[in-house]
Amino acid sequence: MFERVALIGIGLIGSSLARGIRKHALARRIVCVDRDPDHVAIALELGIVDEATTELAAAVRGADLVVLCTPVGTFVGLAALFASHCASGAIVSDVGSVKELVVREVRPLLPANVHLVPAHPVAGTEHSGPAAGFAELFEGRWCILTPPAGCDETAVARVAALWRQLGSMVEVMDAAHHDRVLAITSHLPHLIAYSIVDTAVGLEQSTQSEVIKFSASGFRDFTRIAASDPVMWRDIFLNNREAVLDILQRFTEDLTALQRAIRHGEGDRLQDVFTRTRAIRRSVIDAKQA
Ligand code: NAP
Repeated sequence: MFERVALIGIGLIGSSLARGIRKHALARRIVCVDRDPDHVAIALELGIVDEATTELAAAVRGADLVVLCTPVGTFVGLAALFASHCASGAIVSDVGSVKELVVREVRPLLPANVHLVPAHPVAGTEHSGPAAGFAELFEGRWCILTPPAGCDETAVARVAALWRQLGSMVEVMDAAHHDRVLAITSHLPHLIAYSIVDTAVGLEQSTQSEVIKFSASGFRDFTRIAASDPVMWRDIFLNNREAVLDILQRFTEDLTALQRAIRHGEGDRLQDVFTRTRAIRRSVIDAKQA
């Protein structure tokens, strides 16, 4: 499918992509570049790439597909550095959890003969680094493509075909719409988890140890999400600010309404809300996203 794929950042997602591309024989050569020499060494040791380097230009040169797999806050700086080294006709893609930024700020940096096809695999774990990846990560999960208006259709079709080969279902949507949808489905849940776990951190020591001891009553599910990579999530909130703030405003209003219902003993209201939400869980299971 591709001659030479250059993966920038060989962490959880980059290394899962490398493994998947290798498993399904989707590229003749897989190259990775990472700023961390240990990650470069691990990628070579694991045998998931053909070449690994800390030199950005060397990795990108001659690649027909370049994929940014670093935290979104690094995308603009990296694109400015590698843009002039891209081969004519190359496709530049990414796996970032925020998409408007890519269309707005990365695209203008690329030469006219390079095609930008942003992508977001809606799949992941709370683990980081090259050893955490696995080829099956994307199977049965959605990958959302957000090609800018006027984007080369063949390039979009090639990136879509890559993700389908990796086992994903592909959906194409506008970048701003993506950022709004993900603000509620992913970004807000992470913010709530970080916040709840931090509230526990702030409790006095004796209560804190009981929170850990009895965590199976609900808290532990938040701790898994709140263990997600701090740098990655810092960058997501800084770069999807408007959509997150808007969803957060709605959430705090709804939370205040629940608070009021508890204070005034409005059991019917609470039960109504909890019944509505239970139905959503069933829809998630039916959609095979559980
Ligand atoms: P990760 O495991 O931390 O991997 C990122 C890798 O990029 C690390 O090896 C990191 O090195 C390296 N890196 C950071 N800055 C760099 C730079 N300026 N130049 C070269 N390498 C650099 O992160 P990840 O979970 O794979 O996430 C990568 C991207 O995937 C993010 O944009 C994220 O939004 C997106 N994504 C993540 C998930 C998820 O669940 N994890 C799901 C979907 C999409 P250091 O360790 O030294 O920083």
